[in-house]
Amino acid sequence: MKKVSNFKRRLAQATLFTFCSFSLPFLHADAADAVTITYSGPIEYKVTTYDAFNSSSLNNTYTPVTTSINGRIYTYYTVTSNTYNNQSEAALKLPDTSTNTKSAAVEIKTVAAGTKWATELYIIRSSKPGPTVMIVGGIHGNETAGYRAAEKIKDWKINCGTLLVLPQANKLAIQANKRYIEGEPDLNRSFPKRSSESGDTVLARAIYRTVKEYNVDWLMDMHEGYDFYKNSSTNSVGQTLIYYPNSDTKRISEKIVNTLNSGIKTSYKQFSLLRYPVQGSLSRSSAEFLGVKSFIFETAQKQDLSERINYQLKAAEILLQELGMR
Ligand SMILES: [Zn+2]
Repeated sequence: MKKVSNFKRRLAQATLFTFCSFSLPFLHADAADAVTITYSGPIEYKVTTYDAFNSSSLNNTYTPVTTSINGRIYTYYTVTSNTYNNQSEAALKLPDTSTNTKSAAVEIKTVAAGTKWATELYIIRSSKPGPTVMIVGGIHGNETAGYRAAEKIKDWKINCGTLLVLPQANKLAIQANKRYIEGEPDLNRSFPKRSSESGDTVLARAIYRTVKEYNVDWLMDMHEGYDFYKNSSTNSVGQTLIYYPNSDTKRISEKIVNTLNSGIKTSYKQFSLLRYPVQGSLSRSSAEFLGVKSFIFETAQKQDLSERINYQLKAAEILLQELGMR
């Protein structure tokens, strides 16, 4: 009984589906308990069972079960028999696939296809299971560093999971070099403000639907402020990371801010960690209503463009590294 509850606790802590499978802890389960490992990777990743004492393989049988929880597809492996029937415990482990080389199959899709808002979505898939991360640039058309960085990230290769890149979320605004085009609402205030909503505009609805459709685990939305947040004479949010509270998101957000700040000598140019992306923003709606771990990353436009792009790239790199994807 104690062993099982311990297993369940560890299982809960593992939140397996948000990290690469090869970083899984070694989990123990009683064969009689139909509670084993959950992860969202492809079904061909087999579970190997090991004897807890001598590490040799056991001929246990296991049954993959695919189920849907809140619209998200998970694969469970259930131990259906154990050759060591008298043994109360068997250990389950996912194979270590970390020796696989980086691979990237890139697919390009169009978001808001057939409308004047049509824009490319790059889907970079690894052959290994792992989280789905979405990186968005160009929600605001005059925040150049974000969409320029995202344009580079679409060519990145990953170790595991799936990377979705939407480099030019609002193409018309980018072409006009404006926050949003005349006659249209601010795109980053147009995403759902209640769970029952789908978004105020064609473009907001199309982007939000994409987040949903791909079961995005993590979302980074790239923006810029016109000044430094630490310059008290302005109300700009340049040089900030604004996250939606969640323990995983907080940990990685702190890592990003601290790493970047360690290379910034001038204190007012350092990044600040803020929370609660504004209502109606992609980051806020995705986190609040879809359970996505999400943040907005803002550079300050009072710096050279190349420097701002570098901060955006570095922040994305740290996120993906922390998730084992790079
Ligand atoms: Zn913005």
